[in-house]
Formats: sequence, C-alpha cells, structure tokens
Amino acid sequence: MHRPHHLTDPAFFQRPRPTADRPLVVMMSACLGGIHCGVDGSTNGDHTPLRAWLVRPEVRLVKFCPEDYAFGTPRMTPDSHGGNGFDVLDGKARSLAEDGTDWTEGMVKAAYEMRDRALREQVDVAILMDVSGACGSTVTYRGSRFAPDKVYQQGPGVAAAALIRAGIPVISQRDDRSLRLLRDLLEGTHTLTDERDHWEKEWYQEYFAQRP
Ligand code: SF4
Repeated sequence: MHRPHHLTDPAFFQRPRPTADRPLVVMMSACLGGIHCGVDGSTNGDHTPLRAWLVRPEVRLVKFCPEDYAFGTPRMTPDSHGGNGFDVLDGKARSLAEDGTDWTEGMVKAAYEMRDRALREQVDVAILMDVSGACGSTVTYRGSRFAPDKVYQQGPGVAAAALIRAGIPVISQRDDRSLRLLRDLLEGTHTLTDERDHWEKEWYQEYFAQRP
C-alpha cells in the first residue's frame, strides 16, 4: 500500500525553523483547536496534548469548521455516498446527512470557503480531523456511519479534498510520524521514534488489504 500523496513531503521538513517573525501557518480543524463545533457542540475529544505544542509564537493557527460554516452547530452528521470527497467536489458522489437529506451543495460551498481562506492566509500545512465527512484526509466512511454494516474508504472528506487539490499538505490527528516531524521542526530537535502515520498502522493495512 502506498503512502497517501496528501501527507507532507519529507522535503517540507527541511525548511528553516519557523520563528515568531516568520511563523509556520497551520490551518486546523476548529474542533481540534478547542472550538465547540462538533455535531453535538463538543470538541470531538480532548486534543489538548496536540495543541500544547502547537500553541506557540512560531505557529499562526487558522481554525475553521466547514460544517459549522454551512449548517451551524449542533447539526446532523454528513458522510459521502458513492465516492469520497474528490468525487463529491466533481459531482460524482453526494454528501448526505444522517437522515438522508442531501447536503452536497453546502458541503462543497464550505469546502471551497475553507480552501480560499487557506490560500488567503498562505497556509503551509493543515492538521485536520480524520474520518470526518468534511475534514477526513486518509479515511472516511463510505456511506452513512450509522449503517449497521458501516464501511470505511480510503480518501478524504469534501473540505480536505479541496485543500489537497490546492496543493496544501494535510496531516491528521492520527498521523503520528508526520506530527512528530512537525514538532521537531518547530522545536529544532531530531527525535528518533518508531511512530507511524495512520496508513502505516496495522488497522489500516489489514482493513484495506481486504477492501480495495
Ligand atoms: S467539520 Fe471538521 S472542524 Fe468541524 S467538527 Fe467536523 S471535523 Fe471538526
């Protein structure tokens, strides 16, 4: 199985160490950034450890929640049906809320708003919440996550797809190797660990070996 091309290229980490005067610009799923924009008004879990090393003068965070932008909070949960986020952008798949309401138009509009903000802010890299129908990057649901036989698919959510097509590298909260390299870049360290990105982990390798 190949390394997903949306992850940061190894050359990305060869850049000069960011400073307060020349910070790294990081777009972040707002829920990962501590904003209560999850479908139920939560932050989708405690991501304080991630924020602890990202909140620093050498980083300028741009937080955005595409689903909140389009549908407000609280709201239903959308997933991609008939393809992944690229296919939704191309009109070949639909984004449906959990009751079957077609949210494609709002999801696409929010995705392009997120992309445009990222380009305006000159974002260097995005850290997004995997498995979300909007922000997922490596894995999303194929069809509704509430189906009794829920199925995962490779490929991004709708907003992540728009960022990827704009050439912005995307790391998820599950990509431990890439997050470590990013932290090393910020802290000027070279940590030796056996951390892996999500696609390298057993679950991903076994699950998608059986389901292409
Ligand atoms: S759309 Fe993205 S930012 Fe908003 S709650 Fe879902 S994962 Fe978080």
